[in-house]
Amino acid sequence: MKLPNIAPATVTQLQLSRRQFLWLSMVASLLACAPLNTPQDDSAVTQASVLIIGAGIAGLAAGRKLQAAGVPVQLLEARERAGGRVWTDTSFGTPFDLGASWIHGVEQNPITALVKAYGLNTVATDDDATVVYGLDGRELGNKQYQRLWQLGEQFDDDLAALQEQAEDDAVLREGIERLLRRYRLNAEDTRLLNWYISYTIEISMAAGRDELSLAWFDNEEGFGGAEHTFPQGYGGIVQGLAQGLDIRYGQVVNQISYDAQGVTVGTQAGQSYRAERVVVTLPLGVLQAGSVTFEPPLPAARLQAQQRLAMGTLNKLALVFPHRFWDAELHLISHLHDQPAQIVEWWIPQQPARPALTGLVAGAYARQLEQQPLEQVVATLTAPLRQAYPRMPEPEAALYTRWSSDPFARGSYSHIPPGAHPRDHQALAQPVAGRLFFAGEATFATYSATVHGAFISGERAADEVLAG
Ligand SMILES: Cc1cc2nc3c(=O)[nH]c(=O)nc-3n(C[C@H](O)[C@H](O)[C@H](O)COP(=O)(O)OP(=O)(O)OC[C@H]3O[C@@H](n4cnc5c(N)ncnc54)[C@H](O)[C@@H]3O)c2cc1C
Repeated sequence: MKLPNIAPATVTQLQLSRRQFLWLSMVASLLACAPLNTPQDDSAVTQASVLIIGAGIAGLAAGRKLQAAGVPVQLLEARERAGGRVWTDTSFGTPFDLGASWIHGVEQNPITALVKAYGLNTVATDDDATVVYGLDGRELGNKQYQRLWQLGEQFDDDLAALQEQAEDDAVLREGIERLLRRYRLNAEDTRLLNWYISYTIEISMAAGRDELSLAWFDNEEGFGGAEHTFPQGYGGIVQGLAQGLDIRYGQVVNQISYDAQGVTVGTQAGQSYRAERVVVTLPLGVLQAGSVTFEPPLPAARLQAQQRLAMGTLNKLALVFPHRFWDAELHLISHLHDQPAQIVEWWIPQQPARPALTGLVAGAYARQLEQQPLEQVVATLTAPLRQAYPRMPEPEAALYTRWSSDPFARGSYSHIPPGAHPRDHQALAQPVAGRLFFAGEATFATYSATVHGAFISGERAADEVLAG
């Protein structure tokens, strides 16, 4: 049996605030006076004052903050790696971020502070370095680009006006169709506007227009400044945060039981962990799937909020080429499509070790592609690219993410579908019975769907635990 290290020597080494000291004293006396449940014979039992379920950004942020406050913490992670939906793959000899890529607005963003603390390198994405190709594989002309942005600007204004009147159950598609009817656009302009909608809304929200709430789809707030990516991969942030934390890998949690004495966490492999409190950072999709049983069940109102929200899908196709065939200054490549749901945004990794492209596809189409073999996905998604670049060589390596089929993510990130409300995100953040605390991107109304949201939510949960 492993007991948490809360010996007096550890306590005195730390600069503890009065509140932290009181909290630790309480934990120490509870552990000393109230023996924990007798373990089953076949289960290994470990104890920590606080267990954190999931070592994604939220779990790591909570773990760091609690550990810094002198609280014994242990993280239980289903995968054999930390980071969750932040995952840099280097198997092709050049880093590919298969989950998050961007710091969304570097000003005041807590991720920027981590970049500095860990001495990481980031590069601003230049939206002006975007090229868009038409159905015929030719780049749009100046007039078409102008028309595209003019239509987009008008659409943004008109959609904002519609949103003000929209009921909670209104679907984004209804709003878009209403505006398209009002505009009476020809086929060419309709394609341009559909590209704009797909690019600025559907790909970024990881959900199609049928799946998003008209009233609330863009409820979140952001940070100012440019959008930055990590040439060496977002994984640098994960490595920095994970350093010094006690993370148990390969621990697939399937049961969390709580009562006045504490919390018992069970895993698929039959292991059992015991703690005073637990911070749950399971992704919304995992909670919705019921992969983890709570005993007693979580409050009904909370479960309803959980079921109202939705997980979207954004998948990436990572490709390595023998040589670069696009203009060296470009950051993004895209194309018009008669089926707007099938539009791909090709992001060009900056300072790669090998020439590389990352294609982004979203929503039902991205999920549909998860059912197809890799060769078919590559052939389908690169067809418009090949039309624009007839000399495009065959990719030397390819990888398609399947976030929606991933049992430990069950989607890419959360969004507000018709019928849901931002307060549903807030409901997911509410502690339960003073034992369970919740973090993760979906527990944030204003910063959901992001790395910074996950990070801030982890720190918030740690503060709640410390506040006792
Ligand atoms: C393709 C893609 C692109 C994205 N792009 C961006 C971007 O550019 N910028 C941005 O800011 N955000 C982006 N995001 C969103 C961002 O990655 C997430 O919001 C954030 O990483 C979520 O962190 P989290 O800690 O809440 O959840 P997670 O990272 O999912 O962490 C939860 C952890 O729980 C573990 N877990 C799950 N089930 C169990 C279980 N039963 N037992 C134990 N452990 C379990 C998981 O393995 C995981 O490690 C993107 C996401 C994806 C998928």
